[in-house]
Amino acid sequence: MLLNDARWRRDSRDRDKRGLVSEAFFDELKRYVRFGEEDGVALRALVAATRPHFRSISDEFYRRLSEHDDARNVFTGPEQVERLKVSLVGWMEELFQGPWDEAYYQKRARIGRMHVRVGLQQRYMFTAMNLIRTAMQRIAHGSLADEAARQRALGAIGKIVDLELAIMLETYREAFVDQVQLLERQEKARLQSELAFSEARYEEIVERAWSLVTTFDEQGTVRFFNSRCEELSGLARAQAIGRPWSEIFVPEEERREVLRLCERVLGGQRVAPYEGKAPHSDGRRVRWHLTTLPTGAGPVLCAIGIDVTEERELAGRTRRAERLASLGTMAAGLAHEIRNPLNAASLQLTVVQRRLARDAPDVAGSLEATRLVATEMKRLAQLVQEFLQFARPQPLTLRRADLCATASELVQLVQPEAEAAGVELGFQHAGASESQIDEEKIKQVLLNLVRNAIEATGRGGHVELRLRSEGENVLLEVEDDGPGLSSADAPIFEPFFTTKSAGTGLGLSIVHRIVSDHGGRVEVQSRAGRTVFTVALPSS
Ligand code: ADP
Ligand code: MG
Repeated sequence: MLLNDARWRRDSRDRDKRGLVSEAFFDELKRYVRFGEEDGVALRALVAATRPHFRSISDEFYRRLSEHDDARNVFTGPEQVERLKVSLVGWMEELFQGPWDEAYYQKRARIGRMHVRVGLQQRYMFTAMNLIRTAMQRIAHGSLADEAARQRALGAIGKIVDLELAIMLETYREAFVDQVQLLERQEKARLQSELAFSEARYEEIVERAWSLVTTFDEQGTVRFFNSRCEELSGLARAQAIGRPWSEIFVPEEERREVLRLCERVLGGQRVAPYEGKAPHSDGRRVRWHLTTLPTGAGPVLCAIGIDVTEERELAGRTRRAERLASLGTMAAGLAHEIRNPLNAASLQLTVVQRRLARDAPDVAGSLEATRLVATEMKRLAQLVQEFLQFARPQPLTLRRADLCATASELVQLVQPEAEAAGVELGFQHAGASESQIDEEKIKQVLLNLVRNAIEATGRGGHVELRLRSEGENVLLEVEDDGPGLSSADAPIFEPFFTTKSAGTGLGLSIVHRIVSDHGGRVEVQSRAGRTVFTVALPSS
């Protein structure tokens, strides 16, 4: 409860500065109890009679106080009590002597504050004052013979002691107000620091969020821009703030529509999230949730975005895989059924060819016709074979193998084909590259890629197979100098997509499936004169 000295001194000074206020306060008190000139005169007339009793009154005053534990405990020891008694004697002297002016008031208030400071409870102070009052009045009563003078003296004592009580009450009130103000200040400081802490914490959360968090005003001007926004837009916060939000995040052709959405949100409506490709982001897709935030200066729009690029790709892949799975199951059954009669028909055709060759070699070119039929049937068998590979993939039988050896065997296998097509096939590698693979299936991958390359370049073309390591991956690259892909977004990995008159459109689908099953990925870069298919396989 005790106020510390520094604060105490500062507050007293504040009060002294408000001299006018204090004076008015004491004057008003005096007016209220009707304390006038004649009271002063009456009190002064009592000094001589009362002075001899001051010490005994003071002793009694402190004896009474020390009867109560709460009151006694505020005194530090007999020396302090002695000092207090002496000052109470002086206090009584002044009570009768006056002058009862501003300086008097200030001094009394200081003494009162001292009592507050040492923690003397006001109820003891007040009741003990009654002791002084009664003692003084008894002395006055005994020392004055004239009844009128006696009444004046008793009245004056009553008034001055009431004034003293009022001053004391005021000092307790001041202390109480100080205490409340201190608590208020402490509470305010506590709340401020809590607020600062929680603000910092929320800011941190918003900064660390994997979402794009941004706000913009009614004109669409960015006000807030978190670091994820910086990453995705490539704009520093300072550059973004003040620019239109839609310019940064919405493709031009969609801006009008998105602005309409924003208007609806500002009008208090809920709208479905807007999803689009962010213009300056390498084609990343963002799903924006638009809401309003109330602020002192009107509502601002808050857009929280989630990068859904991967999610979208995954959903696309899943959809494709599901479609292929059902299509594949059905078609694989059909292909399987075709294979048997096809084999039987091939065998019969061979018999026919032999007989024709032996018995009637030149009947109207029929031998040539059977050769054509045989070629077509071979193609059909090839289609069935590829299709079954694609639609009914066998589980991988992984084992540790040197990809370099695998690739080199494959090159030897297709070399005759390349020569027949008039294409130069090269192989480059930087040494052994171990990996967990299904060798037969990886050969299939390389075969499909190299065949496509040979078919793309045609006579006089160059095809190169390269093997190299990059980080955790082994890269297999097949490059050719053919005309390149028919278009940049041709769905070349989709089954049955082909630009060749005799193509099946299954080669790259098979490549994709096998590489994915190995936990790898396949990419293509293509322009006229240079097409590179890259297969990345994990090297561990
Ligand atoms: P197919 O070879 O039977 O057409 P693929 O799945 O192997 O089926 O290839 C699909 C399509 O991809 C080809 O028809 C062709 O348009 C394109 N393509 C594949 N490889 C190349 C390449 N090296 N250069 C140009 N286009 C290619
Ligand atoms: Mg092919």
